[in-house]
Amino acid sequence: MKSGNTSYRMLDPDNCAMCGMCLNHCPTYKISNNESESPRGRISIIHGLNDSLLEPSESALKHINSCTLCMACETVCPAKVDFYQLMTDARNKYFKDQRIIFKIKTVLISFLLTKNYIKRFITLVVSTLNKKPLNKINKKLFKFMNYTQIQDKYAKINYNTQGNIGIFTGCASNIFQSDVANSCVKILKKNNINSEIIKNIECCGSLNYNSGRIKKGSKQNIAAMKEFRKDKYEKIIGYASGCSTFINKNKKDATYQDATSYVLEVLANNKNNNFKITNKNICIHMPCTTKSAEIDFSKLMAVLNNIPSLKVFTFEDNYCCGAGAQNILHNNENSIDIIKPKIEFIKSNNIDLVLTYNVGCSLNFINSINLKNINKVQVMHPITFLNSNLV
Ligand code: SF4
Ligand code: SF4
Repeated sequence: MKSGNTSYRMLDPDNCAMCGMCLNHCPTYKISNNESESPRGRISIIHGLNDSLLEPSESALKHINSCTLCMACETVCPAKVDFYQLMTDARNKYFKDQRIIFKIKTVLISFLLTKNYIKRFITLVVSTLNKKPLNKINKKLFKFMNYTQIQDKYAKINYNTQGNIGIFTGCASNIFQSDVANSCVKILKKNNINSEIIKNIECCGSLNYNSGRIKKGSKQNIAAMKEFRKDKYEKIIGYASGCSTFINKNKKDATYQDATSYVLEVLANNKNNNFKITNKNICIHMPCTTKSAEIDFSKLMAVLNNIPSLKVFTFEDNYCCGAGAQNILHNNENSIDIIKPKIEFIKSNNIDLVLTYNVGCSLNFINSINLKNINKVQVMHPITFLNSNLV
């Protein structure tokens, strides 16, 4: 096929047959009904850019940026297009052409979330903002503070433990889900397993890699893997499923397992674990990273169903919540639109507590719950919840 003097392919070299089977699985297509916001549309844009048929303009790149990297398209694609690689390569190749505000936000968020000394400072700020009366003032004055209204129990990470299971805290999860690390230690201790929280890893690398800074992300990943392989630990566990996905993609010989997956195995292997009676309606969210992080969702359901009086719900739709790949930062309105049906479900079923094991999803839920003023609803990591309900 010809366009002027330029030839271009309708079938792409990465196998896309343009069949459209992925369209109805894509969360951004669902809210927009716009072909450019679909996997097939994005592939066409990438090929247009790569073949110089399109300029890397703001209007072209915004469709590359709005993809949440949920990989729902990859799962259903009959041609097995490696969508993750296509997208991250495109983000990397055209990063220099992004709007200045996009570049500033991406670099700044990486700086703030991955440097250990800055993480400590932000943790202090977040904990202060969560204390009364500041929490109320912040919520009224600053929109972005919606994210800091942490509903997961806040606690300072206790690094004074020792054991041969190493707990990796990630970057954003180190700040916004700090108590999960302590809860992990406590659950394992009750099951006669000693563990310790790893101090000196900044990030698994996914934050930068997924937003188009492949070189920086790969460097951070190599540094993290080097720490993992020091033979200090029998096993490393990480509690942010986004990190687990990225580490699983890149792992070679490291003994890594997602913490939720490991804790569920530990609980299942010891029949002496008993839970308190809990009169609550909880809804378990299944992040898009569940499969790639190798978390058995049915095992989590089974453990929760053992808690007396607990009423367990799951969301009706299996779409991504809209948080992935820094969308809550760059395309906040999309994130709010995508998560809307889940927020409606929470309201109509009187849910008291949402459980999710990905920090980005957790922040997206917290933001929308606060925006909708249904603040009585808590958002928590399943490990924190299980720990607080173990007898
Ligand atoms: S399902 Fe796969 S082959 Fe079909 S349009 Fe989507 S990406 Fe292309
Ligand atoms: S990764 Fe998710 S958001 Fe991105 S194109 Fe595929 S289905 Fe849509």
